[in-house]
Amino acid sequence: MTAVAELPRHAQPSQFPTLDDVLLLGGIELTRLAERVGRTPFYAYERSHIVSRVAQLRRALPEGVRLHYALKANPMPALVQLMAGLVDGFDIASGGEMRVALDAGMAPGRVSFAGPGKRDEELRCAVAAGVLLHLESEREMERAACIGAELGMTPRVAVRVNPDFELKMAGMKMGGGPRPFGVDAERVPAMLQRLERLGLDFHGFHIFCGSQNLSAAAICEAQRRSVELGVRLADHARAPLRMLNIGGGFGVPYFPGERALDLAAVAEGLEQSLGLLRQASPDTDLVLELGRYLVAEGGIYVCRVLERKRSHGQTFLVTDGGLHQHLAASGNFGQVIRKNYPVAIGNRMHAAATETVSVVGPLCTPLDLLAERMELPRAEAGDLVVVFQSGAYGLTASPTAFLSHPLPLEVLV
Ligand SMILES: *Cc1c(COP(=O)(O)O)cnc(C)c1O
Repeated sequence: MTAVAELPRHAQPSQFPTLDDVLLLGGIELTRLAERVGRTPFYAYERSHIVSRVAQLRRALPEGVRLHYALKANPMPALVQLMAGLVDGFDIASGGEMRVALDAGMAPGRVSFAGPGKRDEELRCAVAAGVLLHLESEREMERAACIGAELGMTPRVAVRVNPDFELKMAGMKMGGGPRPFGVDAERVPAMLQRLERLGLDFHGFHIFCGSQNLSAAAICEAQRRSVELGVRLADHARAPLRMLNIGGGFGVPYFPGERALDLAAVAEGLEQSLGLLRQASPDTDLVLELGRYLVAEGGIYVCRVLERKRSHGQTFLVTDGGLHQHLAASGNFGQVIRKNYPVAIGNRMHAAATETVSVVGPLCTPLDLLAERMELPRAEAGDLVVVFQSGAYGLTASPTAFLSHPLPLEVLV
């Protein structure tokens, strides 16, 4: 078995071991796995990878921090089921995710529901189930109260706050300045008074600043300021602050030159933020909600080379997978500058990179690109192309109906 560090340069970053010249996933050789799955393309997620990722994070985090999984990153039911036994709660953002979360056996009291546009039907299901609503507007609060009255139940609620600061260096900012998410911090005190009059069961605050951040310093600063803001706003509530969800946004490296997040530095900052919270409000649960960080590196996308062709001096590998199934790897999921995800020829892991090729999908658009002029071993029709870092924001973040190809399979091994 070969260590990660010995993988060919073009295949980095990857955490999967190789045996001879094939990739191993859950101890199964890639070509064997492809046979077992029966067709390409497919996504494969590795249980042991996810389990050890969560364990590693738990070891690093200060005692008492609650860890939630955000289903948005990967809602595959089998994976969510695995997660249910590993984390302290789930964060959901739709009625569909709520069903997956509850079907996986997570206690409704440990599920929280954010999202700026919740339908009445979704609010009704959440209140009936006892899921914690992260209220994103004053109007949503009124609607939740009406639904609670109809059902004869008291909705459990937290207020999602649009913070009065921004997360520096985040890949995707979701707080600070004008945002459709949450309630502007300065309006929260008035909202809390109304919330109390409506008789809602207040639990605390949710402050989510952004996603895909690789800077420990920026994350620590955002977490500290989130705790300060939460503590400050809690002064305006009569009920105690039971829960403070300070988001997460921990990033993973996708592109050359990106370095993995310094978890020890994040943990140190979090220890201080937790200290601040304990001083002000000793019984408050501090919640971190992570999606990508827990699952992105534990998954791959596998497609097969259909055609190898030349055009004006360039070589193209045309595969059966592409943008319609992995939008993020094509560079069209919020990226400003297109960069290549780590890609390898999965059944030729140890072959030297001898040619520069572009890996494209079957769609009739130039956007359908999985690797642009990348150095790879020579590949032929039938070879397996692997896209690493594909465990989060893969299949469900892709326009699968575009061009009416069949859906890829997903396996957890
Ligand atoms: C998207 C999202 C997450 C998950 O973000 P990751 O970058 O996958 O960790 C968590 N919380 C909220 C509110 C989100 O919108």
